[in-house]
Amino acid sequence: MGKVYLVGAGPGDPELLTVKAARLLARAEIVFHDSLVSAEVLRLIARDAEVINVGKRCGRKLLTQEEINSLLVAAGTKQEVVIRLKGGDPLIFGRAGEEIEALRNAGVDFEIVPGITAALGAAAAAGISLTDRRAASQIVFSTFSRGAQSTAMDWGAITSTTTLALYMPGPDYAEVAYRLREGGLPGDLPCAIVSNASGPQQQIRRTTVAELEHEEKLPAPALMIVGRVAAQRVQEISKAFWRSDVKGHEAHRPAVS
Ligand code: SAH
Repeated sequence: MGKVYLVGAGPGDPELLTVKAARLLARAEIVFHDSLVSAEVLRLIARDAEVINVGKRCGRKLLTQEEINSLLVAAGTKQEVVIRLKGGDPLIFGRAGEEIEALRNAGVDFEIVPGITAALGAAAAAGISLTDRRAASQIVFSTFSRGAQSTAMDWGAITSTTTLALYMPGPDYAEVAYRLREGGLPGDLPCAIVSNASGPQQQIRRTTVAELEHEEKLPAPALMIVGRVAAQRVQEISKAFWRSDVKGHEAHRPAVS
């Protein structure tokens, strides 16, 4: 009986891997990876290891989640060092919950090795401080709901001091802008789009929620950072205008004494 390691591959740059991830990749017997994992990181896998891409290609799943779960369980009962390698951090939008459950149910030993999630890679690339004592005291890692089993975004969590890291925004920026406005975010709220953070194809655009729909579409994977911290001059972005278009939003709040 071996062990299954759920390992974060980080946003792309192999130097952003943890030392532990690099060490495990060099010892791996079998690696199941997503399409998001960069070629540079895949190069660190032991030469004689079996390497299987279980990710999406052109929007089409190569394997279902249930099939991946079964493969992990089967490998974990046969091989010593089994690696499930995921882009960014395995516990953020990585379906790790389902894999952990399957491994637990099968009594297969597992360990999670964190990675640098895309929001942190993107913030570093764009030079954006996700928290800022002048403008942001909380960060929400979110995505818009898509598909039957997905949970909807809870707009109640978003306040004037929230930085929103929006994963999987998709190519339809007009729809993204619409949904942000629908959630009560002001049009002049700054927004940064970071494509291929930390990789050689990295691109960054700075815009606002209102201007978003006119922006050139950047290639996937891309992430949006929405909030006052995404401004070049954070202090100049007032919170006074926040959610002014959501009727009664402020009125429902209990007064702070
Ligand atoms: N587990 C991953 C997220 C998987 S969801 C993590 O922790 O980062 C896939 C989404 O992550 C993409 O649609 C994109 O929004 C984001 N993403 C992943 N890698 C990225 C990168 N290098 N640059 C920008 N966004 C990235």
